[in-house]
Amino acid sequence: MFWAKEDLGLQKKEVNRRLSPKGWVRPGPILQVIKDDIQRGKFKAAIFDFDGTISLIRAGWQDIMYPYFVEVLRDTPHAESSAKIKHVVVEFVDLLTGKQTIYQTIQLAEEVKKRGGEPLAPLEYKHEYLRRLWEQIEHKVHGLENGSIDKEIMMVPGSLELLQGLKAKGLTLYLASGTDEPYVINEANILGVSEFFDGGIYGALDSYEDFSKAMVIQKIIEDHGLSGEELLGFGDGYVEIENVKTVGGYAVGVASEELKRKGINEWKRSRLTAAGADIIIPDYRNIDGLMHYLFP
Ligand SMILES: [Mg+2]
Repeated sequence: MFWAKEDLGLQKKEVNRRLSPKGWVRPGPILQVIKDDIQRGKFKAAIFDFDGTISLIRAGWQDIMYPYFVEVLRDTPHAESSAKIKHVVVEFVDLLTGKQTIYQTIQLAEEVKKRGGEPLAPLEYKHEYLRRLWEQIEHKVHGLENGSIDKEIMMVPGSLELLQGLKAKGLTLYLASGTDEPYVINEANILGVSEFFDGGIYGALDSYEDFSKAMVIQKIIEDHGLSGEELLGFGDGYVEIENVKTVGGYAVGVASEELKRKGINEWKRSRLTAAGADIIIPDYRNIDGLMHYLFP
């Protein structure tokens, strides 16, 4: 259903013909154009989310966070059924995805209170969540560090080619993640992508009010005196897409299937579309088609 690597040597004319203004590029759902009337090609800087947009190291984090949060809420005096709680958890976790993790645990503490419980400090919930997540991803981090795991399989397909392509176009690249900064810096390093982010690598800080993706975007705009149409954003979460669109930038929604590494994640696709993404892609396998579309 998807173009294999061999098929990427598509002629530009051919790509053009296949880029219908509405709907999927044929053959197969490679690039879905949501809005075609937005200025493209003048980009001077690009901002990337990390987890799910480039890195797959933390893929499956939801399967740690959801059950943990459900467990906490089921322990409250006025807890509803597990199914109802799961629904509540998925809703608020998802809506806050892309923001720092602490916002999800702040909301968890609120939900505990609503159900008559005495919450722990949000930071304590965050530490317990990170402890559980670390158990899941530790082997991946060590495998990447000692070379026993191939970097390629821990990245959204085509990430390296995309970063190289954008550098070749002269863009300054920024990485901004809701994951704690020391982890983001280390994980970008072991994936071998740090060098591309000449604009900087930003992550969540303990003083969480001092970081947000919106703040990084503001900094990019001020540092370069950019207008909105000169900013390009890539993300698989609601927050970064919304932030990029707020300043008039161009937003690429990456509806990545993080565990399968192929295909479109329909849940992400609908959320990214609702957040205002201009195009939706599953990954960067169709790099020629994507670059040609972004830089017509
Ligand atoms: Mg993400």
